[in-house]
Amino acid sequence: MIVGAFLTQNTAWTNVEKAMAQLRRARVLSVAGIRNTPIADLEWLIRSAGYFRQKAQRLKNFVAYLDQRYGGSLDRMFARPTAELREQLLALNGIGPETADSILLYAGNHPVFVVDTYTRRILDRHRILPLDAPYEDIRKLFEEALGEANFVSECETQVPQSAGAKPEGSCHPPTRMSTARRTAGAQVFNEMHGLMVGVGKNFCLKALARCEQCPLRELLPARGPRLKSTTEARRRVRSR
Ligand code: SF4
Repeated sequence: MIVGAFLTQNTAWTNVEKAMAQLRRARVLSVAGIRNTPIADLEWLIRSAGYFRQKAQRLKNFVAYLDQRYGGSLDRMFARPTAELREQLLALNGIGPETADSILLYAGNHPVFVVDTYTRRILDRHRILPLDAPYEDIRKLFEEALGEANFVSECETQVPQSAGAKPEGSCHPPTRMSTARRTAGAQVFNEMHGLMVGVGKNFCLKALARCEQCPLRELLPARGPRLKSTTEARRRVRSR
């Protein structure tokens, strides 16, 4: 998933899947694979994901950081506290908050909420926060709202395997990653992000809001001005 978090920057997931398949075929889809592959070859393998020179360099930079700081061990890296690791990732060239949080949540099972375009669009259309609200404001809004679920974060949970069936509203059957054992806190954030993506892809389209069929239609405010501050947004979320 770490590789996917880099490749998905500014591109559709279908293009990322093609690049991942190329990496898998070349047996390069691992830390060692990226470390040992010359950058020109890496660029060629991931070209379908777009911005391939930039992304190949970012993957190399990440592995160099991992080697230098954690002796090449993802387990050692992910054992660090969430806030500390997030800060380190954000300090790396080419890692913004969405990429850092995707790595933390999906690869490391750290309980953080990933803010993406779908989330921004839904919040905007529901007049909770505008499209260009700061990333950190949106992340904190979700993490505070979902915080109560984290009181059981010491427990582990596992999504039941359903023999490759595609759940309703999902874009693909459960993957090894989506059914992996994870803490309850990480599970809550993982599931919420998945639900936002599902609504964004199936109902809250960029060019068209299919509110009549959408499971969130009852939460859509009929009228009223867009909220102007995070404090106001938090108040509205709590009152629901
Ligand atoms: S009800 Fe659904 S489609 Fe309509 S604005 Fe809300 S999230 Fe988007």
